[in-house]
Amino acid sequence: MTHAEQGFSRSLWSATAEPAPPTTPLASRQSADVVIIGAGFTGLSAALHLAEAGKSVIVVEARDIGWGGAGRNGGQVNPGFEALPSGLRARFGAERGERIARFADGACDLVFDLIARHDIKCAHRRAPFIRGAYGNRGLRQINSWVEEWQAFGAPVTLKSAAETEHLLGSPFFQGGMEDARGGSLQPLSYVRGLARTALAAGAAIHTDSAALSVERVALDWQVSTENDAQVTAPCLLVATNGYTDNLWPGLRRHIVPVASLQSATEPLSEDLRARILPYGHHVSETRRAMVYFRIDENGRFQIGGRGSPFDPTRQYADTNHIRAEAVRLYPALKDVRWQYDWGGLVAITKTRLPHLIELGDNAFAGLGYNGRGVAMATAMGKQMAELLLGEDVPVPRTKGAPFVFHAFRNIGIAWHMLSGRLLDRFDG
Ligand SMILES: Cc1cc2nc3c(=O)[nH]c(=O)nc-3n(C[C@H](O)[C@H](O)[C@H](O)COP(=O)(O)OP(=O)(O)OC[C@H]3O[C@@H](n4cnc5c(N)ncnc54)[C@H](O)[C@@H]3O)c2cc1C
Repeated sequence: MTHAEQGFSRSLWSATAEPAPPTTPLASRQSADVVIIGAGFTGLSAALHLAEAGKSVIVVEARDIGWGGAGRNGGQVNPGFEALPSGLRARFGAERGERIARFADGACDLVFDLIARHDIKCAHRRAPFIRGAYGNRGLRQINSWVEEWQAFGAPVTLKSAAETEHLLGSPFFQGGMEDARGGSLQPLSYVRGLARTALAAGAAIHTDSAALSVERVALDWQVSTENDAQVTAPCLLVATNGYTDNLWPGLRRHIVPVASLQSATEPLSEDLRARILPYGHHVSETRRAMVYFRIDENGRFQIGGRGSPFDPTRQYADTNHIRAEAVRLYPALKDVRWQYDWGGLVAITKTRLPHLIELGDNAFAGLGYNGRGVAMATAMGKQMAELLLGEDVPVPRTKGAPFVFHAFRNIGIAWHMLSGRLLDRFDG
């Protein structure tokens, strides 16, 4: 088994998810209104919204539903992007910037609305998100975020060190931002639920059907898979995010894939559950070498963080450094047994914003969620559907923003990780 396969099959999510709906490989030549490549949040949200609007849709997926980041992530439903409303207005102009900020602001609501509307079983919980502030740099960041998002009307509050300790059950952070827009869920169950819902709305999904080539034939896009099977459609959506391969020339250069690894304990005792994250928050933080953590629906402590600086795309690897962080945060976890390890690829962009790239006539790629794709990819998929339906959508379509030294990306990642860890030491 490859490390990419281990990173999926050994996860807590693979062990506990709702079953996937039955699907088969593409085995013939078919046509549709829209062909979508990739069955993660982006592709399936697009498929669902298009099918609901009466379009015929065929999704081709190289492996299984949710085999990419969708089935491997931390299950944290986080609002927005890293960019603040003022940064978006400065970059895109007042009106467009405001629309993009509203789009980001509403992304979590979209996820929980879809779950409610389609009765998707995915252990979802709408408990707030906390971003812990580490050191003075972290406190400055948190202050400006709270100020901006409050002015925007978002339900965020600044927490003192004592309040943060009370909410998290750990004195590790010097303050925090509580954000009531967020929540959490079982991500593999959620993406499988999206697939089931898209199928019910009339979309077709073919697994074990890697797109091997895309060609323009007259006014159509022709996507070919193995065994001479293909889909021909006037509209094409590429939704492959961190798992983008060489299918569309140059698309990979718009993102840098970086592994994030995770570990989960056995279910905690009642005593530990009462002391660790007692109010059910899910958490990330301001350090450059950050970790993110929460308690799952079965009472397991689950934490994620960086992979290896020397092998930055390895999706299943030693997680001792992440477990050590868990014990730094919560010394009471010292003797707890760790039960699951897994990981996957996050797609980082140069602008730290997702890209909606215009590939050609009625052909788009949506990708680059910078580790925040549960809500954003769901929202991007909906927006891509709306774009094909002729609507004016918030996120502007661009030609993308490729990394210039993409071939040397792993050296850059290693430098970023190692220097980030070093700089974090001076912040504490
Ligand atoms: C370890 C980890 C933790 C994360 N934690 C969080 C979190 O807590 N909260 C959050 O918001 N985000 C998190 N993320 C990010 C989030 O998972 C992603 O942003 C999200 O999955 C993107 O969804 P997507 O549908 O665009 O891409 P993916 O879910 O990656 O799906 C892309 C699909 O495309 C398929 N594919 C690729 N090439 C082809 C081809 N040629 N033909 C057919 N199919 C193809 C792949 O097999 C894959 O299934 C995390 C990611 C990882 C890896």
